[in-house]
Amino acid sequence: MELVIQNLSKTYANGVRALDNVSLTIPTGMYGLLGQNGAGKSTLMRTLATLQDADSGTAMLDDLDVLNQKETVRRTLGYLPQEFGVYPRVSASELLDHFAMLKGVINGKQRAQLVEALLHRVNLWDVRKKAVSSYSGGMKQRFGIAQALIGEPKLIIVDEPTAGLDPGERNRFYNLLSEIGENVVVILSTHIVQDVMELCNNMAIIHQGRVLFGGTPQAAVNGLSGKIWAKSINKSDLPTYQQTHTVISSKLVAGKPQIHVLSDIDPGDGFRAAEPDLEDVFFSELRIKN
Ligand code: ADP
Repeated sequence: MELVIQNLSKTYANGVRALDNVSLTIPTGMYGLLGQNGAGKSTLMRTLATLQDADSGTAMLDDLDVLNQKETVRRTLGYLPQEFGVYPRVSASELLDHFAMLKGVINGKQRAQLVEALLHRVNLWDVRKKAVSSYSGGMKQRFGIAQALIGEPKLIIVDEPTAGLDPGERNRFYNLLSEIGENVVVILSTHIVQDVMELCNNMAIIHQGRVLFGGTPQAAVNGLSGKIWAKSINKSDLPTYQQTHTVISSKLVAGKPQIHVLSDIDPGDGFRAAEPDLEDVFFSELRIKN
């Protein structure tokens, strides 16, 4: 199975071109869509989730026309939106039961079994009687995955799922996502490089509605091999380095800025060769294309 997106474009009424000829081939497994806020990720996710229309382009899940056969897509789709809106003050098991009903699981006994299995799977069984509105951020996201898994979807879309989670919650969420079958297409949109590094075997970088890179994280990193150089500097020298080098990132290490620069040759001057990581890929793509 494969999701093939071709030349997808969307311009909002205010003139913002949120998707600009996006073409991606997404195989089964976990696919990371990495981009900064405003890159166009949610627009793409909502379009694939049949919640809004593109201006042009196609998206085919094998021979299913995702943009036009909306009812069929919805039956095979699991969607965890960025904002779930306000949760009603009902318990997790009641709410999950309600979602299962909406998704067409009409047999009461089957539904009860499904709800129980899902609550166990996302580790919320012990708190199933508590109102979802009272859950922590991480618990809400796990609940979100439980509802997304109803109906054994073939296409699962999770939009910025780890934003706002603390490290422990994020880890639990990673573990849960990584257990979702390898035979479904899971698209994870995120601005957090670590999400993609930990979870995804394929990825794309999207910026201002355009795809800057598509491939495996490893290929992305290999492309930068021998081109990333690191140096600890004084904060006051940063503007100078930014003028003289292609500085792609600057972060504090033990209180001192450490810069990464992109260069085909050894810049000398105390720089040392650094092993590129996905963060370097992300920032160097943004830097080059801007
Ligand atoms: P991301 O999910 O990567 O943060 P979005 O898809 O939400 O990006 O937004 C992409 C661009 O489209 C942004 O510039 C955003 O302000 C704009 N945008 C998103 N939704 C709307 C809308 N309903 N109307 C107008 N502009 C929008």
